[in-house]
Amino acid sequence: MIDTLTCIMCPIGCELQVIVLDEKMEITGNKCEKGKEFAVEEILHPKRNLATSVPIQGCEHRMLSVRLDQRVPRDQIFPILNEISRLRPVPPILRGQVLIENILNTGSNVIATRTVK
Ligand code: SF4
Repeated sequence: MIDTLTCIMCPIGCELQVIVLDEKMEITGNKCEKGKEFAVEEILHPKRNLATSVPIQGCEHRMLSVRLDQRVPRDQIFPILNEISRLRPVPPILRGQVLIENILNTGSNVIATRTVK
């Protein structure tokens, strides 16, 4: 299998070529070791971050932006979105406040990205 990925670990955005043959993985195009680590994770256990918004309790037309504080396995994104969609945070809410701890046992928390008084 041959794959091309863009490394997202820094703004340079190296284009990585990944060749997977049997049990071995050959990675080229990376300017540093982080690129190799990124490619291995992306091929074997891809992870993603997630940002969305939820309605604020008692303020029907106001939304609160929220995000995960750590990337999670890609196949958990839709179940996590489903959990977050039930969230109705009650003000006052502080920026960085944990709204759901360790969502679906992923080790990631759902946090508020702004303050609402
Ligand atoms: S391989 Fe290194 S230099 Fe290139 S984008 Fe990734 S982190 Fe940046």
